[in-house]
Amino acid sequence: MLEKILHNKYKKTISECSNEELYFGLLEMTKELADKKYRTRSKKKLYYISAEFLIGKLLSNHLINLGIFDQISELLTQNNKSITEIENIELEPSLGNGGLGRLAACFLDSIATLGINGDGIGLNYHLGLFRQILNDKRQKETVNPWMTDESWLIKRDKSYMVQFKDLTVTSKLYDIAVTGFDNRTNWLHLFDIDSVDESIVKEGISFEKGDITHNLTLFLYPDDSDEKGELLRIYQQYFMVSNSAQMILEECISKGSNLHDLYDYAVIQINDTHPTMVIPELIRLLIKQGIEIDEAIEIVSKTCAYTNHTILAEALEKWPIKYLQQVVPQLLPIIEILDNKVRRKYDDSSVYIIDTKNRVHMAHIDIHYSFSVNGVAALHTEILKQNELHNFYKIYPQKFNNKTNGITFRRWLIHCNPLLTAYLSKLIGNGFKKNADELEKLLSFVENRTVLNTLLQIKRENKKSLKEYILKTQGVEIDENSIFDIHIKRLHEYKRQQMNALYIIHKYLEIKSGKKPATPITILFGAKAAPSYIIAKDIIHLVLCLQELVNNDKDVSPYLKVVMVENYNVTLAEKLIPACDISEQISLASKEASGTGNMKLMLNGAVTLGTMDGANVEIAKLVGEDNIYIFGESSEKVISHYENRDYISKEYYEGDKEIRQMVDFIIGDTLIKIGNKKNLMRLYHEIINTDWFMTLLDIKEYIKKKEEMLADYNNREKWAKMMLVNIGRAGYFSSDRTIAEYNKDIWHVS
Ligand SMILES: *Cc1c(COP(=O)(O)O)cnc(C)c1O
Repeated sequence: MLEKILHNKYKKTISECSNEELYFGLLEMTKELADKKYRTRSKKKLYYISAEFLIGKLLSNHLINLGIFDQISELLTQNNKSITEIENIELEPSLGNGGLGRLAACFLDSIATLGINGDGIGLNYHLGLFRQILNDKRQKETVNPWMTDESWLIKRDKSYMVQFKDLTVTSKLYDIAVTGFDNRTNWLHLFDIDSVDESIVKEGISFEKGDITHNLTLFLYPDDSDEKGELLRIYQQYFMVSNSAQMILEECISKGSNLHDLYDYAVIQINDTHPTMVIPELIRLLIKQGIEIDEAIEIVSKTCAYTNHTILAEALEKWPIKYLQQVVPQLLPIIEILDNKVRRKYDDSSVYIIDTKNRVHMAHIDIHYSFSVNGVAALHTEILKQNELHNFYKIYPQKFNNKTNGITFRRWLIHCNPLLTAYLSKLIGNGFKKNADELEKLLSFVENRTVLNTLLQIKRENKKSLKEYILKTQGVEIDENSIFDIHIKRLHEYKRQQMNALYIIHKYLEIKSGKKPATPITILFGAKAAPSYIIAKDIIHLVLCLQELVNNDKDVSPYLKVVMVENYNVTLAEKLIPACDISEQISLASKEASGTGNMKLMLNGAVTLGTMDGANVEIAKLVGEDNIYIFGESSEKVISHYENRDYISKEYYEGDKEIRQMVDFIIGDTLIKIGNKKNLMRLYHEIINTDWFMTLLDIKEYIKKKEEMLADYNNREKWAKMMLVNIGRAGYFSSDRTIAEYNKDIWHVS
């Protein structure tokens, strides 16, 4: 089939084609095959609405799911071509930000794999989040265009009118096929408008935020630090949900719904608060269809379910009524009715939708007017029930449930780690690809020297591949025989990259004083900071200064290297994860809702160094305390520190010589010479005066635990056993398991 397509397209054979031509040939072939596999509708359908879908490159993923990866890869090899090189042509769609968007992508894969009739709905951001450039030891942001003339996007002739107060736009729908592994094809629906104009972007990522007809779907999470920015986000959100609501009603009616029974035809999963306005929008549309308001509210509440992803206050959206009035006045009467119903029923202002400052709490709409509220890891759900959302839990105990996150093994094992996958297949058969629990069969080999040695060899091969990639792309040479300590995730103070940076200072000083590590260590970071998040950018600056200092110091660099990779994204994650020895999961306990990077790394044979936070708690339980390195204060203690306001970072700083030495190093002569004094001073003051995420609380224990881990690495047999147990116990974190739970407990879609 590929030959035929290439002949029609280019009048060439495989070996005559360039990699680019081969990519576009494969693209066409894959789209056709995916379309053929599409299976028609069941009565009830799931709609997963999300502002982000961090889907990653799609070629290999589709080929694997269609069951033809090996065949195609062989065919190309026979013609002296390489699938890996061809894949380099593909641009990664920049439709997500971090974990939440990647979760949505993993979920779509599993929904299709389990044969569930369910589509994703989101927006077609032309320039994505942003592309990170590391220049002059700083993060710079630029546009990240990813659409090409021929791409995975399929333009449909579906469009809807979306009405804002001062303008009406006509949407355009683009679809991307979501092929399940050995099963049905679903769709990711991405809405857009024709008038968006990429040329309005001036320097970096700045543009006129008031120019809605030209900017509506330019960027994911445009800067909202001013009024125009907040308004633009409301425009985007309403555009997303108005299209969703119209499409859902249209599909349900065409399948025979009389709208009074909407919930028999549709279930809507609201991924975080960004799609919340779908609730009042659906109510509004049902009223327009002649349904009386109380019934409309009931119908919608029985159709919608909400996932909470965070307890960080900054992430729980609150829109000023004034702004909603300026963009979507048609929703306000409905939101007021929803709020009044709550006020009449409950004498507790903490559960009201509209607060005393005239702001609308989006999460409160979701909790009152949906039938399910779920957290994303066991600990997170408990914290929601007992602390953050306790007053809601008292009202609706039956709505609250946990769905521990998961990852798709097709991308995060089969695709990204072919060496390990092939070896696992040889040892335990292919069953684990569809039934992840079968990975447990590996556990019977825990005393088998050959197996343990092979796991170490595979890790070393993957580290070599990463070394070559880093050399080519970053120009830094690292040693595959060193320990790869990997810290990859969005840059946020609660994730505590600053703690690892302090560790680097500790290690640097130790080596300088003559104490050399038994095995050299390479510490790799990958992280984007939100463009207006000042301290996060200062932390990046610190890491990059340390990178320059450490890597250029002849006494130190044979034993310690630091690399921050540029523009951390799915493609990079796929290269870093198979090569990791130490998985850094060191968030402040209670703050990381789940994490999914922790799961990907464990599955690829990395050992976790972490706090008892998010899904780390479940990882620890599964692998046992001998196969994970846990440190730090518990979530209960941390929560009580916040309640009592009794964590004072300065006391830790002043009370401990070692801590003082590390923190002072940030503004010492050595670093000030390399970096920018203003940034380093600001970070230093932040750490000793505020340290909202309690770095200094856990730093000493962190260093101690990490040293223990580094020492254990040298016992290669012990380490290999830990790797094996981590891989063997990772089955629970397949998103197939997560999605099966969503469907059984929430969606009920056949
Ligand atoms: C998995 C993933 C994340 C989430 O990582 P966490 O460690 O769970 O925060 C973020 N970005 C990318 C590109 C990912 O693949």
